[in-house]
Amino acid sequence: MRCDHCANDVPDGVFCTRCGAHQGVIEAVGNPKLREGSYAAHPGEAVVHPSVFTTIFPHLGQHKVHEFRWAFLAGLGAILILYLAGLITAAILVSAFLVPVLYLIYLYEAQVYRDEPALVLGFTIGGGFVFGLILTVITNALVNPITASAGLAADVGTFLLAAFVVPVVQEVVKPLPALALRGREPYGETVDGLVFGIAAGLGFSVAETLIRFSSVLTSLPIHSDNSANWVYPLMTIAVFQPLLQASATGIIVAAIWRHARGRFEKREWGGILFAVLAHIAFSTGSTALTELGVAPLVPIIWQAIVVGGLLIYVRYLLHHSLLEEAAHMGYSETICPSCHRHIYASGFCPNCGMALTAAPAHVKRARRARAQPATVEEA
Ligand SMILES: [Zn+2]
Ligand SMILES: [Zn+2]
Repeated sequence: MRCDHCANDVPDGVFCTRCGAHQGVIEAVGNPKLREGSYAAHPGEAVVHPSVFTTIFPHLGQHKVHEFRWAFLAGLGAILILYLAGLITAAILVSAFLVPVLYLIYLYEAQVYRDEPALVLGFTIGGGFVFGLILTVITNALVNPITASAGLAADVGTFLLAAFVVPVVQEVVKPLPALALRGREPYGETVDGLVFGIAAGLGFSVAETLIRFSSVLTSLPIHSDNSANWVYPLMTIAVFQPLLQASATGIIVAAIWRHARGRFEKREWGGILFAVLAHIAFSTGSTALTELGVAPLVPIIWQAIVVGGLLIYVRYLLHHSLLEEAAHMGYSETICPSCHRHIYASGFCPNCGMALTAAPAHVKRARRARAQPATVEEA
């Protein structure tokens, strides 16, 4: 078969294995080359789909994503039980670690770090944690964290510092540890940069939460009765704060990885701008809404909207990177991690369209090259 979009001779399939373009002629919506209906890292979903798990865990196939989803729900259930039992300190600790621990399991599962786990974990989650500790201690000396997070900012100056300056400084500092891995040989793909950024952001998030709530953690009795006012802060700590820190840094580091590949264009600098603005919107909105005395659910909805926007930008950036970076990986027999079929493919699964650069490392290692690439006679 000859692909209409890249003019290569490729094996028959719904998608071109070289450029990833959809081969259908009756594609109902959109450009078959940009295929916005099937996200390159997870072709069952559209690019614009606010899913947490298929976005921040881009290497996982369908079944594995479900396992992580259940583990996350189980974690939330545990937090709820601790909260109902009045064990607020324990609930805060579980909330702070839930998403970062899942990410650690994911990094192991997908072996994003190849053969250097200590190096990669040290410069992503570990580095983010150390930077988070240092920066949050400095910030806390300037802004009282409890009053600021409760929306009781003493004056306009404190509000501006907490809502504008802190997010910008954090977005500058968070990517720094991951940048040490830039240019290292096996980690050149944009999807690697994205995962490293997310991991660094999560490490940062743990440290930030522990420091910000350190006075609560140490002063609150293990068992306390006034637990009613903790349900919304716990939702922020467990879900929205880590996802904000992770996706914003993921976008920024992925954009820097794209720069190293000589493709720093509108989508990339737009991503950096969007990440910083979204972070400012998150903290300004949360503080201002709480200050206005609205129902406590309103700031949570606001945080969910901002995080949803960031996740969609992550997908948009990664989708187009995977399509543009479709290098010829050489034809080989492999099993698609998304649709689980035996395929004969180069860069994309001809059946479901998954970009195989986003496959877990063990799948990439298991690729068996055939002596001869598919020729016209074979087809
Ligand atoms: Zn093609
Ligand atoms: Zn497939």
